[in-house]
Amino acid sequence: MQTNFSAAQLADPHVAESEKILRKCVHCGFCTATCPTYVTLGNELDSPRGRIYLIKDMLENGRPADKEIVTHIDRCLSCLACMTTCPSGVNYMHLVDHARAHIEQTYRRPLLDRLTRAMLAFVLPYPGRFRAALKLARFGRPLIGLLEKLPTLKPVAAMLKLAPSSIPPASPIASPAVHAGQGTKRGRVAILTGCAQSVLDPAINEATVSLLTRLGVEVVVPEGEGCCGALVHHMGREDQALASARQNVDAWMRAVDQGGLDAIIITASGCGTTIKDYGFMLRVDPAYAEKAARVSALAKDMTEYLAALDLPEPVRKPGTIVAYHSACSMQHGQKITRQPKELLAKAGFMVREPREGHLCCGSAGTYNILQPDISAKLRNRKVKNIEATGAEIVATGNIGCITQIASAAKLPVVHTIKLLDWAYGGPKPDGVSESSLGGAE
Ligand code: SF4
Ligand code: SF4
Repeated sequence: MQTNFSAAQLADPHVAESEKILRKCVHCGFCTATCPTYVTLGNELDSPRGRIYLIKDMLENGRPADKEIVTHIDRCLSCLACMTTCPSGVNYMHLVDHARAHIEQTYRRPLLDRLTRAMLAFVLPYPGRFRAALKLARFGRPLIGLLEKLPTLKPVAAMLKLAPSSIPPASPIASPAVHAGQGTKRGRVAILTGCAQSVLDPAINEATVSLLTRLGVEVVVPEGEGCCGALVHHMGREDQALASARQNVDAWMRAVDQGGLDAIIITASGCGTTIKDYGFMLRVDPAYAEKAARVSALAKDMTEYLAALDLPEPVRKPGTIVAYHSACSMQHGQKITRQPKELLAKAGFMVREPREGHLCCGSAGTYNILQPDISAKLRNRKVKNIEATGAEIVATGNIGCITQIASAAKLPVVHTIKLLDWAYGGPKPDGVSESSLGGAE
């Protein structure tokens, strides 16, 4: 694609990067076929190619964002299916991240939208605040029907609907500690305990530490790590996202200095995609560029790390039919497609893949709150495809997808690591019956 940026514009490293990306796009439109919003809405401006034109126009003309571009960029899930499809290697992720930051800096949203976004950015990345908000959400539940009728308050209704009716107690596993591996030491890793995941399902971190230590891996929960920054990054709140990234880089580099790390283990693929991008996000910060690149190189999804270990035979033989839902951030963001399915199969599960596996479930960070109508359509389509597999359990590697799919599916939705931990001798995952797991020892 031909571009017309001035030399002065290109002196800004963010504009220069976007210009490079724009020039790679050859307008072929292959990406439209796999874009969930184009498939759902049928509007070219809600396709990757349409959004690329809108972003080009805005950046090239140095214009503030307007209502039209905000509407179409807000509808983008950042699912990155377009990047998997694109034959020209267009890095849509970096382009849309730049566009979102530009929108945040130049566009004044309506008051309720501003308040909702500010509240999400204030609450979600902090486990204590998130836990308190979930407790309060119980009192708002009777109002869901009323709120849904008022278009501007639909995000509040969506939030209340997604809030679980009970919250598990906080787990000590999220506290800074070093968990020694059993037997011969096979490695030393740090884990990201995360923000929303550690509140909604702390058993995921417990299963991760339990499985790794049984396999002989020492697990460090470093002092000072926090939210990865993905939630606010996708809202264009660049300063907040970069502050989270720097805090985590510092925490993990201390762990590297105190005994070395083979990997930083991540169990929420949405976080993994962002942490693997820290090197890019902090590339123009001389104090952090090199350290952030090291952290990104160390970041591994738990299934990537496990696949490289020589696993023993599983303790149990489940034979359960599992529908594997590959989160967008797993398959498109990190290109991890094979390992989770192979690990489940090796552990004795019968893995089935739902149709249209490339399409997003509609969770996408805060998307299911901010765009509840499109999100619900995508969720219902996903659940229909999952249920058509005849599976007894759904496995996936991202807490956002777990919450989203579980809000409509009749079958249990479980993190892949909890199923693997159980097959290798750990406890039965909550909400899954003995009969659906089988599990002869
Ligand atoms: S990231 Fe997903 S929703 Fe956004 S343009 Fe690409 S395919 Fe479409
Ligand atoms: S597939 Fe790639 S090159 Fe083709 S229009 Fe989409 S982004 Fe551009």
